[in-house]
Amino acid sequence: MTDVIIVGGGAGGMSCAITMASAWQKPWFDDRRIMVIDDKRSDLNKAMLNNAPGVPLGTTGTELLEQLQDQLAQYPPAKRHEATALNVRRHLPGGFEVELDDGTTHHCLVLVLATGYKRWELDGLDLEPAVHPRGGKSNRLMLSHDGCYLIEPDMHVAGLLAGGSSQFAIAAGIGAQVAVDILSEWAGKRTHVHEVTGT
Ligand SMILES: Cc1cc2nc3c(=O)[nH]c(=O)nc-3n(C[C@H](O)[C@H](O)[C@H](O)COP(=O)(O)OP(=O)(O)OC[C@H]3O[C@@H](n4cnc5c(N)ncnc54)[C@H](O)[C@@H]3O)c2cc1C
Repeated sequence: MTDVIIVGGGAGGMSCAITMASAWQKPWFDDRRIMVIDDKRSDLNKAMLNNAPGVPLGTTGTELLEQLQDQLAQYPPAKRHEATALNVRRHLPGGFEVELDDGTTHHCLVLVLATGYKRWELDGLDLEPAVHPRGGKSNRLMLSHDGCYLIEPDMHVAGLLAGGSSQFAIAAGIGAQVAVDILSEWAGKRTHVHEVTGT
């Protein structure tokens, strides 16, 4: 059992995972675990990121994805699993079962969907993607949510699939917001994760 499964490890999913895992030493984090499931088809693989705030000039999206993976690896509760998620089933009274194309099945209490705005191939959930309002093309997709990226109890959407415009900072920002909302649930109060320089 993993506490959170994030399907999609592009800008939105990795930002969500990194922000969430960065709280791992808070007392209320307990021994929670986070898994990112990704099949390496992020739009970042085609990008040159000269306008992404804080990202060094000349960084390719592929390099940035590697940096995000290194960044996630510093946190013991998080892991990235390379596979395609095929099917998700909700269990009652709570939790989800996620079936992958490598034959493994994983269970979680909280699900984050961050599969980008170009594909929706997950079976098993009663969700119908809508035309993305900011995607510029009729085949761009988003999932409806409550305005704060919650689709249903314990099911969040992040990255462009949540309706943001196609910029790294926007996709990553939505991922971070979803992470902070999940952390706030765990903390039992509104929270965020800040580190200080010590000077
Ligand atoms: C050509 C191009 C150039 C760009 N240039 C810039 C730029 O200069 N500046 C900028 O800010 N932005 C740029 N972008 C936009 C940026 O890449 C996107 O905004 C960002 O990648 C969106 O993040 P996301 O997490 O929503 O989707 P993605 O990054 O596309 O990630 C979605 C992830 O979900 C995974 N996935 C989907 N379904 C499944 C499944 N069933 N199982 C497992 N994994 C799954 C995919 O493999 C992928 O890794 C560019 C995009 C493109 C295409």
